[in-house]
Amino acid sequence: MTPARPPGSDALGETLAYYRDLGVAELYLDERSEEHEDFSANVNRARENAVAGSAAAAKAAPTALFTFEENAPHPAASLAARSASTLELQSLAKEVSSCVKCRLCKTRKQTVFADGSSTARIMFIGEAPGADEDAQGVPFVGRAGQLLTRMIEDGMGLPRSSVYIANVLKCRPPENRNPEPDEIASCRGYLENQIDLVKPEVLVALGKFAAHFLLETEEGITRLRGKWGSYRGIPVMPTLHPSYLLRQPAQKKEAWEDLLAVLARLGIGAPARKGKQP
Ligand code: URA
Repeated sequence: MTPARPPGSDALGETLAYYRDLGVAELYLDERSEEHEDFSANVNRARENAVAGSAAAAKAAPTALFTFEENAPHPAASLAARSASTLELQSLAKEVSSCVKCRLCKTRKQTVFADGSSTARIMFIGEAPGADEDAQGVPFVGRAGQLLTRMIEDGMGLPRSSVYIANVLKCRPPENRNPEPDEIASCRGYLENQIDLVKPEVLVALGKFAAHFLLETEEGITRLRGKWGSYRGIPVMPTLHPSYLLRQPAQKKEAWEDLLAVLARLGIGAPARKGKQP
């Protein structure tokens, strides 16, 4: 008897054919150049990341973060599709690293693309890198970033590595001034692509610049926060920026309510120490 083909195996076959069409098989036969070494290392890393991302998230919330529905593609097929997205994100990050579309390229130390899992269900979007992020090339690693990490890990009970974190701008504005409209316009396509590739189930807009970007409104963040909006069909929860919360700690209660709403929307229970604010 012919064994039943797992659901989604067609999709897997198509993905493999896609790699073959790209000449991936030939790459291994050709003489190795540094770029080819990078590419195959990236393929392996993409696979590891996809598996590790799922494993870390599944460990954090075994019943809620990663579930496969009955008619969903076979896990192997989604893994292959995810690996392809991870590769595309890596190539986008490379493109961003040499971006000269606006004046910020002259003052940045380096670009700051993203942090976290490309299989994340939740994507946090901030404003722009600050001095620490500019120095390290990773978003939200300074004081505001440490608060955000506590909000995610201690508050929501999720490993930071299981969510995806990016900014509206990929380069630091000098003296941490606000982003200019033309800088946001130049950078827009990068974040739009990141959202398309990660395909999160929920977007969390941290502060007014992210909320305005996603919701195409000029409304103040204090009026927007806590109310669900939508970006291309993806639910958006606007909330207060961690930098603002550092200055106004009494407002953490509001941000915490917003994050609880995100967990509820995804069917993820709040961690046992319910009510504890980060
Ligand atoms: N503030 C942001 O909006 N993004 C960062 O990465 C750091 C601080």
